[in-house]
Amino acid sequence: MNKKLYLYNTASRKKELFEPQHDEVGLYCCGPTVYNYAHVGNFRTYIFEDILKRTLLSLGHKVKHVVNITDVGHLTSDADSGEDKMEKGAQREGKSVWDIAAFYTEKFMENIHDLHISDADVWPKATDHIQEMIDCIKALEENGITYRTSDGIYFDTTKFPTYCDFAGLDPENLEAGSRVDMGEKKNPTDFALWKFSPKDVKRQMEWDSPWGKGFPGWHIECSAMSLKYLKQPIDIHCGGIDHIRIHHTNEIAQVEAASNKQYVRFWLHGEFLVLDKGKMAKSAGGFITLDKIKEKGIDPLAYKLFSYSAHYRTPLTFSWEGLQSAENSLNNLRSLILKETVGVQESKDAKSVEAVLQDFWQALYDDLNMPKATAALWEIVRNTTIEPSIKKAAYLQIDSILALDLFAGKQEKVVAASSMDGGDVRVVSTGDVSDEIAQEIISMVTERKLARKNKDFALADTLRDKLKAMQVEVKDMPDGSTECVVAGK
Ligand SMILES: [Zn+2]
Repeated sequence: MNKKLYLYNTASRKKELFEPQHDEVGLYCCGPTVYNYAHVGNFRTYIFEDILKRTLLSLGHKVKHVVNITDVGHLTSDADSGEDKMEKGAQREGKSVWDIAAFYTEKFMENIHDLHISDADVWPKATDHIQEMIDCIKALEENGITYRTSDGIYFDTTKFPTYCDFAGLDPENLEAGSRVDMGEKKNPTDFALWKFSPKDVKRQMEWDSPWGKGFPGWHIECSAMSLKYLKQPIDIHCGGIDHIRIHHTNEIAQVEAASNKQYVRFWLHGEFLVLDKGKMAKSAGGFITLDKIKEKGIDPLAYKLFSYSAHYRTPLTFSWEGLQSAENSLNNLRSLILKETVGVQESKDAKSVEAVLQDFWQALYDDLNMPKATAALWEIVRNTTIEPSIKKAAYLQIDSILALDLFAGKQEKVVAASSMDGGDVRVVSTGDVSDEIAQEIISMVTERKLARKNKDFALADTLRDKLKAMQVEVKDMPDGSTECVVAGK
């Protein structure tokens, strides 16, 4: 099988063959700003990044995965005005900035684990890397790229001639659009590297620097932390598509203007999760958290399966109905897999297993096509000609990528049964069912059998509908018996 991984590179705007630059693949992903809960749209990006990492590992690469925690300097406005999101979060909740950061970092980690997203090798915090950021700014200053205003040290984007290339920005249009509050900036695209603490307000987080007391800009954080832990050029840098125009464009400008070397080989960007009203964003309010999904009793991994229904470069519309149907699919998958593999040893016949997995791997290696990869899994489940032992080995490999707990299905057991002339009736469930309910189901099914025997089809249908309303699935078996499947507790 062709084990070549093709990834869509935002920098070249095409799919390219991925080849690592170093012994270990360097993977940097922009992490959360820990001033509030992450929403499920944010997690869509972390899920796609985790699929990428697991795919790289499956190809035998070593991977060093770094995800930063932004706990200072991310302003509410991309124009370097606005407030620090962290300080604002602290005011909102009447807590210290440090408490806010600790609380939401812990919440974020909890959700990452709920979703079976693998841990990064390093989770660097911005506030632990202020010196590295100062060093980056100094290097830019020595290259004559920076200038000072009354509120900070800025990057002069005219000193980096390829500034507009990455995002395909039109410099003419940027000038025309510069009605936005420029302050003392020389050019609309210039951005803050270091912001001075305001004279009249006492910030909770501030540090000394060669330029005065203050705090770093958000973009310099990622440049400094990515290069502290990974070799340049970094193999792959990921984030949401909203980072292309400003955050990643600025990261490239900073690193390449300071080092005169390529910063990153592959840039991968995940599309938005959208609500009917538009992009899911904290600023727009009404965002959905993973805790909300958990509160409704929905398995967080159902959200993961839901996210696989669209390619990571395609917008995906969130709906509760869509999520519910993903949960049904997940439960179905698990119970079918359990039925096929319970007590079965996985095959050691690597060749046969690989043949079964062909479509699954091809889908992944073609720019992480998850809808196709998921469809390939269903094909295997539905194919009755494949040996169970081979299926089991295939599912193990698939679950090492999808991380959906595919073997977590619960075994069905008979909770009540009755014998009668017209065929036996069994009530089966994966959970506990009270005797009262089990007996009620049996008597309704018995009544339905009788009604059918007497050709009273209207009554039989009514009973079937009543059972359906009780979430009982009635299956008439070929041997004349009837099986009633009920979820139970
Ligand atoms: Zn970043």
